[in-house]
Amino acid sequence: RVERTMPKIMVLNEQTACRIAAGEVVERPVSVVKELVENSLDAGADLVNISITGGGIESITVVDNGCGISQEDTPLAFQRHATSKIKNAADLDRITTLGFRGEALPSIAAVADLTIKTRTPESSEGYYMHIRGGNMLDSGPAGCPVGTSIKVKDLFYNTPARRKYLKSKSTEGGLINDLVYKMALVRPRVRFVFIHNGREVLRSPGSGNIPDVLAAVYGLRAAKLMLPVNVVEAGIEIDGYVGKPELSRSTRQQITVAVNGRTVRSTTVNLALEDAYRGLLTVGRHPVAVLSIRLSPEKLDVNIHPAKMEIKMDREEELRSLVARAVRSVLRDTNLTPVISGVA
Ligand code: ADP
Ligand code: MG
Repeated sequence: RVERTMPKIMVLNEQTACRIAAGEVVERPVSVVKELVENSLDAGADLVNISITGGGIESITVVDNGCGISQEDTPLAFQRHATSKIKNAADLDRITTLGFRGEALPSIAAVADLTIKTRTPESSEGYYMHIRGGNMLDSGPAGCPVGTSIKVKDLFYNTPARRKYLKSKSTEGGLINDLVYKMALVRPRVRFVFIHNGREVLRSPGSGNIPDVLAAVYGLRAAKLMLPVNVVEAGIEIDGYVGKPELSRSTRQQITVAVNGRTVRSTTVNLALEDAYRGLLTVGRHPVAVLSIRLSPEKLDVNIHPAKMEIKMDREEELRSLVARAVRSVLRDTNLTPVISGVA
């Protein structure tokens, strides 16, 4: 006779639950950078300094000049589902911050070695905490400027399966590079500095002027080949720059889309750009574009995936046609020569 006894059901302890949840939020080093920088932006920072070594596998440090966290709140920031950004379920329908799930810091701290130093403007001194694999090792007063600095190292040291699945340092670093470029393009008022292995890769001026960031990211020559797009229609606002066809690329990587300030992947916008550039680009070529879309937060569900890279909008079809029309009219107004099919 087969024995069919199942062990009794038990609620997992917080540390185990956290390690499991971490797998969804922190997939690779770029996820850590994304979460930390989003927190800096939510904190109102206008200076974000990102410094990584070894493709972010060795270390990631994000320093901001935002509002900081009070000493009393700092331990809370590392508790799961603890957030200062929403108060109740109703707030989920009108999210204006990038974060709201209260999962990033506890998740990162569960699978890495993390040190935070933070200070609010009201406080005369800062506070630091050192957490490793979810265990608090040390904490106390710290001398630091107003704002927050978080250093993450030994990512996935206690989850070897995850660590093994990471790609090379240069691949992981490249993903971080792409993300930082996109965030800088989407937030032109913020000064971003990105340093990899001690070398400065990006410094955006924080002037609020997208062409300045375009020049910092793509170079002056490319920036001069970008055309402004601005439309407001039926409560959807589109603002950004699209490249002349000669600036085309072989991947969609240089298409940057933000919805309400959040960098997202949007099939809808990709399709709209394809519509707009039809006849101007050869097959397999994609435009360079930065498009910032604003619509009322009730029209948006950002809570469909823990990493929030994908979102759901009420009006995808409307958006597609609006983006396509706006971009096409900008391209039409500048005298462009269509490519002859088959000739690059
Ligand atoms: P969420 O961003 O979803 O609220 P996180 O785990 O990312 O959750 O952060 C938890 C809380 O810690 C935030 O709600 C915020 O109050 C605080 N916090 C995190 N990072 C920063 C930062 N760089 N500056 C100020 N406060 C921060
Ligand atoms: Mg967050």
